[in-house]
Amino acid sequence: MAGTIFKKIINKETPAKIVYEDDQCLAFHDVAPQAPTHVLVIPKKEIESLDDLADEDEALMGHIWMVIRNLGRELGLGDGYRVVVNCGRDGGQSVDHLHFHVLGGRSLKWPPG
Ligand code: 5GP
Repeated sequence: MAGTIFKKIINKETPAKIVYEDDQCLAFHDVAPQAPTHVLVIPKKEIESLDDLADEDEALMGHIWMVIRNLGRELGLGDGYRVVVNCGRDGGQSVDHLHFHVLGGRSLKWPPG
């Protein structure tokens, strides 16, 4: 896969408001927030989409869910939040680097459009 804007954020070549980082993943505020809190959590490993996960990525995905749980607490989303993964064109994915949207800070509607 070609390097995406998220790869540049991982490499600190493009600035982002980073809220969490470790050796496996990075979390930063979305540049076009759809809720008062809108953070993206991404693996540092270049995985194009949910559909491109390999069996070996299982532990990495478990780690990311724990990071999301911790961020929900640290970002003050005690009233609830939503985690969204858009996969592929019909799923509305626009950046081809797997990412988890964490949205909160307001009551979210269902179903999504
Ligand atoms: P997708 O549509 O692929 O599920 O989500 C991509 C998200 O990345 C969008 O919500 C978009 O606003 C965000 N995004 C795209 N480019 C940048 C950027 O350069 N910086 C940040 N922080 N977010 C970005």
